[in-house]
Amino acid sequence: MLFGAHVSAAGGISKAIDRIEEIGGNAVQVFTQSPQMWKPTKHDPEELARFRKRRRQARVRHVACHALYLVNLASRDRTIRSKSFAALSATMETAREIGADTVVFHVGSHVGRGFAAAVKTVVRPLRELLTLTTEDLWLCLENAAGAGGTIGRSIDELAVIADALDGHERLGVCLDSCHWWASGVDVTSPTALDEALGDLDVRLGLDRLRLLHVNDAQTPLGSNRDRHEVVADGLLGDGLAVFLGHPAFRNLPAVLETWPDAGLGTADMDLLRALRRRGQGRWKRQASARARA
Ligand SMILES: [Zn+2]
Ligand SMILES: [Zn+2]
Repeated sequence: MLFGAHVSAAGGISKAIDRIEEIGGNAVQVFTQSPQMWKPTKHDPEELARFRKRRRQARVRHVACHALYLVNLASRDRTIRSKSFAALSATMETAREIGADTVVFHVGSHVGRGFAAAVKTVVRPLRELLTLTTEDLWLCLENAAGAGGTIGRSIDELAVIADALDGHERLGVCLDSCHWWASGVDVTSPTALDEALGDLDVRLGLDRLRLLHVNDAQTPLGSNRDRHEVVADGLLGDGLAVFLGHPAFRNLPAVLETWPDAGLGTADMDLLRALRRRGQGRWKRQASARARA
């Protein structure tokens, strides 16, 4: 497993690598532009080159680009839809220029029109965006907490989208522990997590899983409310070890998106590693208990 965090790209996108190196991470997530503004950032070509060089030096093995929060490919408003598409295209372009591995985004919300109609709306732009993927760069749908008609609140919804895209080979999935919990999957329970991942494997294929967002939650299981909490400080608490330790996540990057007020530090990466180890121990004991039974 790789461990990392979402870090700021302030002062130039290559600074993100400096920041993740400083805290001892080997995976990183960045915004390629301000997440609250439609206007794309013009990156200096030297910055893009420095990013790639620094990434090699710092041995960062996964780079994820998170798209704007404003993106809603399913909006009823045509202007929002076309702005969303343009923003995602720009993110894909910068992602290619910095040699990123994934672009992750929230599909949007189908408020007022229903999921089935929304799927019809998002398929065309997604098909086009998928033409911008490469062997190295995947486009990943993030699972949603499920508030206000957000799309991707279940494996089923993600699978319907993947099916509508004929199971494109570079369409990936990013699982956020907080969103999964809020959407009703108890990721702290080995039985529930195993079942959900079994379902994901059947409906989407585990090979689509490219990235994990590791966030704790302030809101209860199944609340559909997306309120991140610092890892181990929320309702998931130590139970995040079960999530992080799952054998199916072995080769995935696990990225923190919520950090303590004091700011990210090496302790946060150590905490992720410790949770992973503890969780692995639990899964191993469970497997051997099953073998004995
Ligand atoms: Zn997330
Ligand atoms: Zn969230």
